[in-house]
Amino acid sequence: MTEFNDSHHRARKRFGQNFLVREDIIHRIVQSVNPQPGDALVEIGPGLGALTHALVDGAGALHVIEIDRDLAGKLRERCDSRLTIHETDVLKVEFPSLMEDDKRLRIVGNLPYNISTPLLLKLAHAHHCVADLHVMLQLEVVDRMIAQSGTKAFGRLSVILQSVFNVEQILSVPPDAFKPAPKVQSAVARLTPREDIPSGDMLRALEITSRIAFGNKRKTLRNNFKNTLTEAQLLELDINPSARAETLDLSAFHRLANVIVNLPSTK
Ligand code: SAM
Repeated sequence: MTEFNDSHHRARKRFGQNFLVREDIIHRIVQSVNPQPGDALVEIGPGLGALTHALVDGAGALHVIEIDRDLAGKLRERCDSRLTIHETDVLKVEFPSLMEDDKRLRIVGNLPYNISTPLLLKLAHAHHCVADLHVMLQLEVVDRMIAQSGTKAFGRLSVILQSVFNVEQILSVPPDAFKPAPKVQSAVARLTPREDIPSGDMLRALEITSRIAFGNKRKTLRNNFKNTLTEAQLLELDINPSARAETLDLSAFHRLANVIVNLPSTK
């Protein structure tokens, strides 16, 4: 726990609670989301409601998912019938169950940093439910999400998310926008599903492929793949066995996944 105390709520570190307090930043995030009446809007981690009220005013209805019992209770006390409150861990939420009339979800969240990677991967697999995502994360994570091949930040998260979404950074946010202030810079990213998303099997194969390829970042692909593919197989895929994973482009990862998806050991 930290010493920050607002509306009699003590920020809980274990839930990644850094509450937005700068009105200009809150306004810019809501403006970027641009909620419209009838949008199937979902907010992950509403906390003390910094974004919640403007979001629900725009869309007319809002699903909120909050793990902290006290914060969910505070939201309930507001008796706002436009809010549907899910007091649960977002990692357990079945996103399809939030859809009405097959309407895709617009998901917004100043996300708890400690669950950002599993949550983003879960949303990548649930892409058929997603119209768009606006997420605030540590800048370092957003850098990895948008990183291009050949750069240091290019890794597993870049490969999976960029295979599913168009990813862009839309805002950078300094520590003083939050209470308590985090030690690091943050940023807001917008993700919209691509038109050519790989199948579920291929996405799983891409996860396995990128886990192996980036298994040891200092090692060559020949080394990282030594228990999975031969050097000849890598060459056949037009992949240099002496290269390192961060130099491969997305299409090379897709060629590798296409082979890996058919290996009995990875099924
Ligand atoms: N949206 C608020 C704001 O911008 O001020 C709060 C953001 S705070 C960074 C993250 C919020 O997510 C907190 O309210 C926290 O309790 C909630 N949270 C943390 N882990 C969660 C989880 N696994 N599932 C749902 N909510 C979670």
